[in-house]
Amino acid sequence: MTTADILLVEDEPAIQELLAFNIAQCGFRAIKAEDATSAFAHINRALPDLILLDWMLPGATGVEIARKLRADSRTRDIPIIMLTARTDERDKILGLESGADDYITKPFSPRELMARIRAVLRRRAPQMSDETVRVEGIELSPTTHRVSANGQNIELGPTEFRLLHFFMTHIERVYSRAQLLDQVWGDHVFVEERTVDVHIRRLRQALEPSETDKMVQTVRGSGYRFSRT
Ligand code: CA
Repeated sequence: MTTADILLVEDEPAIQELLAFNIAQCGFRAIKAEDATSAFAHINRALPDLILLDWMLPGATGVEIARKLRADSRTRDIPIIMLTARTDERDKILGLESGADDYITKPFSPRELMARIRAVLRRRAPQMSDETVRVEGIELSPTTHRVSANGQNIELGPTEFRLLHFFMTHIERVYSRAQLLDQVWGDHVFVEERTVDVHIRRLRQALEPSETDKMVQTVRGSGYRFSRT
């Protein structure tokens, strides 16, 4: 199963510890940052699957960070949950307008926050969900790690499995090699782009006997797309 990386941007050590503990309890991985600079240092290395973003931070505020993330095509789609002590309705609207997916007011119950994290991930990052996915004749189960295509069992390596899961939850969209490295490998810096081609080839070979390999399409000059043909 894929573990979601949750970037925790919070300057108060006690709250950060509490959040990191609860995130780990839920089976997610917590990555800690205490301000905009350290948050962007993490993001530049690898895209997190979700960001918990405190509103009041030293230097750039959470709202400014959210706007910056939404303005960049690489980080535009990362789900964001804003944390704040503010309860003013106007502030809430400002938080959501800056691009946050959800909003939670301190003090919050860790259980409620985790439920919100799960809901946002289900909605915004379906490849992080445990639900079985079906597209045309292909069925993929993240819990049992099994794939079948047109009634045949498909044996996949871990990378091909993650790649297919990502494709099946993001169909009909073109992804560049760099985007796939970011989304599937979580590393667009140290992994070479041709690595993507190697795993695409293995995925197609695995799907070939079931004649579903044609769904993995090369888009010349752009990258790859998973399509219902
Ligand atoms: Ca704070």
